[in-house]
Amino acid sequence: MTDEIIQVRHLNKKFGDKVVLKDINLTIPKNKVTVVLGPSGSGKSTLIRTFNGLESFDSGDLEIFGQKIDPHDKKAFAVIKHEIGMVFQSYDLFPNRTVMQNITLGPLKVQKRDETEVLDQVRQLLAEVGLQKFENYYPQQLSGGQKQRVAIVRALILNPKLMLFDEVTASLDPEMVRGVLEILKQLAEQDLTMVVVTHEMNFAKQVADKVIFLDSGEIVEEQNGKKFFQEPQTKRARDFLDSMS
Ligand code: ADP
Ligand code: MG
Repeated sequence: MTDEIIQVRHLNKKFGDKVVLKDINLTIPKNKVTVVLGPSGSGKSTLIRTFNGLESFDSGDLEIFGQKIDPHDKKAFAVIKHEIGMVFQSYDLFPNRTVMQNITLGPLKVQKRDETEVLDQVRQLLAEVGLQKFENYYPQQLSGGQKQRVAIVRALILNPKLMLFDEVTASLDPEMVRGVLEILKQLAEQDLTMVVVTHEMNFAKQVADKVIFLDSGEIVEEQNGKKFFQEPQTKRARDFLDSMS
């Protein structure tokens, strides 16, 4: 077995005439945190959405869990999709379902797992994110930060091998950001493969085993996390870090 959970080679993608991913080559290491950085519009979301089949691509190779993905075969992802969890900027909870119902929909209705076991695991996860008292609340009774924590638990309950986080704190009020980042930090310390798109540079610095820096659809640096922040190799990365500090 390789230590890489994803391998991308010469991947290209356009939206219409616009090139959004250009000759992307990268690997995502297993059980590590890879942080994807780059200016707005640089292709970060599009890139990580190709990892779980939410975006197709035009050419190149994508291999996930050692399995080659044909971008035009919608079924290709069906097999691995439940092993990949994703949390977005907007949490998309069902408004008419409780916290518990939102979280258990996947494991009970889709995965058909044992209910007692699932409820136990949900309660444990809710406690870990500080929401043990909220299982019967509805989304509108929760703050943005609490909703985002529910969305994280909803993804984790599926026991994914890979978790994708796309700017999960971007729409939160500043006072809510820290709590959600704390949870991501706790997850980062576990043996879970994570790909994290974020603009929170202090957080990125703390958790990144690896950094992928994108600009205008191209990978400008693919680098060890520490090294990227201490001595970025390109002017574009230095300028980006300066602009963020
Ligand atoms: P980032 O996440 O780094 O801000 P995105 O991946 O969202 O960047 O977008 C990369 C580029 O692709 C941007 O120019 C954006 O406008 C464009 N884009 C993203 N999604 C679509 C889409 N569905 N249709 C057309 N263009 C898109
Ligand atoms: Mg984005």
